[in-house]
Amino acid sequence: MNNNNNAFLYKDISSLKGVGSKLRFYLKKKNIEKIKDLLFDFPYEVTDRSKITDLDKLEIGKLANVRVKVYKYNFPRVRNLPNKVICTDEKNKINIIFFNSNEFYVRKLLPINKDVLISGKVSFYKNNYQITNPTYVKLFENRDEILKVFPKYSLTDGLGEKRYRKIINATLKNIKGNDDWYSDEFLKKNSFNKIRETFENLHSPQRRLDIHSNDQRRIAYDEIFSNLLMLFKARKIIKVKRNNIKKISNKLIDKIILNFPYKLTNGQKRILKELENDIASKFRMFRIIQGDVGSGKTIIAFLLAAKIFHSKYQVAYMAPTEILANQQYENALKTFSNTGITIEKLSSKTDNKKRIIKDLSDGKINLIIGTHSLFQKKIKFKKLGLVIIDEQHKFGVKQRLLLAKKGGNDCDVLLMSATPIPRTMMMSSYGDMDVSKLTEKPQDRKKIITLIKPEKKINEIIPLLKKQIQLNNQIYWVCPLIEESKKLKFSSATEKFKYIKKIFPNQVGLIHGNLNEKEKKIVIDNFINKKIKILVSTTVIEVGIDIPNANTIIIEDANKFGLSQLHQLRGRVGRGKNESMCILLYKQNLSENAKKRLRILKSTNDGFVIAEEDLKLRGHGDLLGYQQSGLKSFKYADPIHHKDLFSLAEDEIKKCKPDNILEFKNLLKLYDKVEIVTDVV
Ligand code: ADP
Ligand code: MG
Repeated sequence: MNNNNNAFLYKDISSLKGVGSKLRFYLKKKNIEKIKDLLFDFPYEVTDRSKITDLDKLEIGKLANVRVKVYKYNFPRVRNLPNKVICTDEKNKINIIFFNSNEFYVRKLLPINKDVLISGKVSFYKNNYQITNPTYVKLFENRDEILKVFPKYSLTDGLGEKRYRKIINATLKNIKGNDDWYSDEFLKKNSFNKIRETFENLHSPQRRLDIHSNDQRRIAYDEIFSNLLMLFKARKIIKVKRNNIKKISNKLIDKIILNFPYKLTNGQKRILKELENDIASKFRMFRIIQGDVGSGKTIIAFLLAAKIFHSKYQVAYMAPTEILANQQYENALKTFSNTGITIEKLSSKTDNKKRIIKDLSDGKINLIIGTHSLFQKKIKFKKLGLVIIDEQHKFGVKQRLLLAKKGGNDCDVLLMSATPIPRTMMMSSYGDMDVSKLTEKPQDRKKIITLIKPEKKINEIIPLLKKQIQLNNQIYWVCPLIEESKKLKFSSATEKFKYIKKIFPNQVGLIHGNLNEKEKKIVIDNFINKKIKILVSTTVIEVGIDIPNANTIIIEDANKFGLSQLHQLRGRVGRGKNESMCILLYKQNLSENAKKRLRILKSTNDGFVIAEEDLKLRGHGDLLGYQQSGLKSFKYADPIHHKDLFSLAEDEIKKCKPDNILEFKNLLKLYDKVEIVTDVV
């Protein structure tokens, strides 16, 4: 297959005939920079001018095509008043209004007594129907020229419809039909059209939005497969042979286990063993632990670190936020107490940064905990042996690659995530990594009871809270937004704070995104030290925060959250020895889908089950859950409707050898996957 024929697609848009700097500017506004980007700007609807509406059947506010005779002009001699042309269809009249036009133009466009087709949006003014600044006018005697059906694109100002269609058509025509990255056999077997035909169909006026059409399936497949190819390549870059094989030592482990008041679960033990094997292997480790909230991932990472400190390896632990970095720092101090391991914390807020940076490069610090500030250029390690990244779902492939590069060939990388990925998407999300799944939770956990209540009954939960406080337990109260917004009718955390403070004086704290890190820390510390009993917050009590004494969580407007997010929030409780409770509040008028969501949540506490259910519900129109879960990583492929394509792509990638990738170079380029890999190497 010749892979170069369609090279023009990857050139800058300005290399197209007729695209000057001005047009380029407008196209850029539409995120169209390369010629190939045009292909993916699919029409959002089809205009059909074959349908003509009688004047007595017009609907206000709708687009319509009318066939009328030009009857009379009205050109006011007053500035700023529009020109008017009265047209009729024998029985009725319609006014065609032109703002900022000149008389001669209008006369030419709509000659008196001529039969014309006019398209535009219908409005009603002073007892008359009118169309203002029609989008299309054509003499009926030229009816052969009338373009009846054509695709409609969303355009910015300065970009005309006709012109845009012309550019797209020219591009489509230029694609060499025989240049495809799949074999004819493969295309035929899957009822895919060749690349040119696929895009032509997707831009054609006959296109109907149908996720199951061959053409939409083909681009979905292209998208999935290009993603897998990229991950395949990323894996090759990362899983290099190391220079020095690490020796494992268990000397510290016993001491740490003494500091750890529990027994490891079997799952934790199994995964620790897997990690140990990775570390002792010839190839660099690149693994992710996928474990539900509260399954105990942190201790696994710490124990792994403990096994390599003896040979002077340093370990960097990166948390997604300051709050979590603080928490893990305190956690590490406890875990490693009496072991002689030096631990420091580094964030953009750290005061003694200079000293810490120096100590890191001198190798005086064994374990450093921080946010992404750990990966600034100026930070040098003496001997970095392991990077641990907590709650990695905020990282894309490119960041993972950069990170692995920073550590060098001897640096192992361990990621941890509590975001459950449905099976269908596992490989297309994490295909570059080895995956360890932690499915069980520590056994001594008490159940979390989930209640679903209408907000009207908020008074009924106050006694429940009083009782929990008497029992010395603590409470999270989650509200979606800080400021009252009438439009969205979200509850406001500040308002709620005042309300709850009245009922529980001196026992309530408030945390939200507008506080700075210091202020946040004070509030969290007060909560940890039990000075406050109820923490009112927006969703800043993010994934990962671990305060076992908090056993109750109230989530307001629960129906506005997706399932995964609700599950993450609920995971803040159920961490201690006491029975826990999650109260989901909703405002009236729950949609069917919202009802189902809340019921699923009530019925299970297993994040993996919830992820699968989330996806199924999404298949029935529940976009909320899907978008919030952070899984919307594909534009064209859909994990429900294209499930078979995900499997097909996985089968195909297994047949791939590193050299094959070149055959798919243009596919990778078309879906913007090349840069991600090549920028890094
Ligand atoms: P996550 O997987 O969500 O990161 P953490 O590592 O924060 O979970 O652990 C949650 C809580 O469970 C912590 O308080 C931790 O001390 C505790 N924990 C971890 N492992 C066990 C275990 N084997 N038995 C009992 N409690 C455990
Ligand atoms: Mg965690």
